[in-house]
Amino acid sequence: MASQSIPTIGYACHEAHGKFEPWEFTRRAVGDDDVLIEILFAGICHSDIHQAYNEWGGAKYPMVPGHEIVGKVLQVGSKVTNVKVGDFAGVGCLVDSCRECTYCKQHEEQLCEKGAAMTYNSTEMDKQTPTYGGYSKHIVTKSNFVIHVSNKFKDLAAVAPLLCAGITTYHPLAYWKSHVGPGKKSWHQWSWRSRSHGCQICCCFWC
Ligand SMILES: [Zn+2]
Ligand SMILES: [Zn+2]
Repeated sequence: MASQSIPTIGYACHEAHGKFEPWEFTRRAVGDDDVLIEILFAGICHSDIHQAYNEWGGAKYPMVPGHEIVGKVLQVGSKVTNVKVGDFAGVGCLVDSCRECTYCKQHEEQLCEKGAAMTYNSTEMDKQTPTYGGYSKHIVTKSNFVIHVSNKFKDLAAVAPLLCAGITTYHPLAYWKSHVGPGKKSWHQWSWRSRSHGCQICCCFWC
C-alpha cells in the first residue's frame, strides 16, 4: 500500500473567469478504506461552470471541477470490498460524510448534519483539506462513495453523466414511483431513463 501522497495532474482554474490550465498536485496516500482511480472520463455539468466562474460564490482556487467521474481502479485499501483493482468505477458529487448522523444512516449523505465533503470546491471532513474533482488524472476517494461500473458498458464516456445528471433525475423517479408510470406526464431532462418508466416526456434543461 502506498504510504506517500500520489502525484497527479488536472485542469485547474485559478480565478473567476480564468482559463483552465494544467496543474500538478497530489492525491492523498491510499488509506484502508480508500480507492485510487485512474480517471478515464469526466462529464461537464453546468454546475462545474458556475463554480469555476464563482457564480454561486465561495469559490476556492485553484479549483479542479468535475463530479461525473468514471475510471479504472488502480489500488484499493485493505478494507475495501465494493471494487477491486482492474474494475471500472464511478464517483459522483460526494466523496465523504460523517456516516454517523441520522441522515447518513438513512443513506441521505447529501444532508449530512456535519456537512458532506463535496467532490471539488469543498473540503474533506477535516474541514481543511481541499477536494479536487474529476478534471484530473487520478482521484483517491472513500470506498463508500465509489460505485462499481459494470464492464458490460462499452461506452464509458456515456456513463459519466449518469453520476450527476442521470442520478439527479433517476432518483426522484424511483423514489416517487407512485407519481410516475404509464399514462403520467413528467418533466425531466434525462428522457431515456424516464421513458423506461413509461412516462411522457417534456425535456427541460435546468442543470
Ligand atoms: Zn452536476
Ligand atoms: Zn452525517
